Amino acid sequence: MSASFPQAAAVELRNAQQRRNLRTATTTIRAKRARVVAEVDDWEALREAGARIKDEALARLDVHLERLEASVTAAGGTVHWARDAAEANAIVARLVREAGSDEVIKVKSMATDEIGLNAALAAEGITAHETDLAELIVQLAGDRPSHILVPAIHRNRVEIRDLFRDRFGEPRLTSDPAELTAAARRHLRERFLRVGVGVSGANFACADTGAVCVVESEGNGRMCTTLPHTLITVMGIEKVLPRFDDLGVMLRLLPRSSTGERMNPYTSLWTGVTPGDGPQAFHLVLLDNGRTATLADPVGRQALRCIRCSACLNVCPVYERAGGHAYGSTYPGPIGAILAPQLAGLRDHASLPWASSLCGACYEVCPVRIDIPSVLVHLRGRIVREQGAPASERLAMQALARVFASRRRYEAAQRGRRLTRLAAHLPGPLRAWSEVREPPRAPAETFRDWWRSRT
Ligand code: SF4
Repeated sequence: MSASFPQAAAVELRNAQQRRNLRTATTTIRAKRARVVAEVDDWEALREAGARIKDEALARLDVHLERLEASVTAAGGTVHWARDAAEANAIVARLVREAGSDEVIKVKSMATDEIGLNAALAAEGITAHETDLAELIVQLAGDRPSHILVPAIHRNRVEIRDLFRDRFGEPRLTSDPAELTAAARRHLRERFLRVGVGVSGANFACADTGAVCVVESEGNGRMCTTLPHTLITVMGIEKVLPRFDDLGVMLRLLPRSSTGERMNPYTSLWTGVTPGDGPQAFHLVLLDNGRTATLADPVGRQALRCIRCSACLNVCPVYERAGGHAYGSTYPGPIGAILAPQLAGLRDHASLPWASSLCGACYEVCPVRIDIPSVLVHLRGRIVREQGAPASERLAMQALARVFASRRRYEAAQRGRRLTRLAAHLPGPLRAWSEVREPPRAPAETFRDWWRSRT
């Protein structure tokens, strides 16, 4: 089990450079998003439509998935079902070997990060080459992603220049973005042309036609989904849309919410296999890995609407300070705080639903209207009911219950200046709470005393 959020955040908060990098990056993306969202007159109606489409898909997920399987199969693809990460990884490794390769080129994909595909392939002697620039930076640095959309958001240009100088053996590289991109392109181009198996995730898949959609900004995804002879797509089962036409709504919501663009530069769509054009073998791996269990929770299931735009991360004051690594999960930020504990089980990420001030900024920006604060509170309740509250909290609640149960004690507590002083300097492990809070000063006269003096 990884460190709890408070422990991990305490470590991350000491990294002042990372905090500066995050503040600069999230402020920029936030402003871009706000500008392009303000251009759309019917943005709220669009959000409603996005939420409805996702809810419709989730309400009859089994039916839509079987339709998707039939459509993909009819178009020449093959569908595989994976209950968990181990099954999905084994399927992908087998398919790569059957394709006669020991390398794959990868499109950025949260689903494959979630199942630890790169490490599982490495254990089978298969090398995975990340081709998204930020994922490449993370891979070359032996680092972990810290953002859904910009996995290397915690690194600045100078850090990336030093990394590229070292890994690519190009000591004269400057931190000019064009130079850094060109260096990455030189590194990747040869792999695009050589490696025969591509691995992608999917932003959406349409049940009625079998079309799979990947949305990206760099063109590396287009290369990975068109150049290799075999394409393997690992997709969470919640990504299915009932109809091809639903893409009209989703493709207006996603780019504006994620990169702050009216339309992303590359939207790749493919349906099965087209003889003589693009990959001649297409495999779609449908991944459950905790999604069915999440669907069983009537409040928590709305997390499955998520289209991974990362708008909630960019507005979250907790994420901006603590950074993505503190969450100890593939999915950081507000969506991570509700998705990770549900996918992996509440025991594994029990501290995450508390990694929020419940300010509600995440709900306001979410393009599919996931009420993250309500889900956070709901999960806190579930965790306390299932695992029990900490002893200190139980004691505090018992004491409060005694105070509230008796009018005499309640009135005494209201006058209790000593109580206020105590709350300002709590002892032992409770000190962390009182150190960062200023209790209100007790008034000279309580309302009850004032009322009595006038009646
Ligand atoms: S929860 Fe909403 S805002 Fe956050 S990543 Fe998912 S779709 Fe985007």
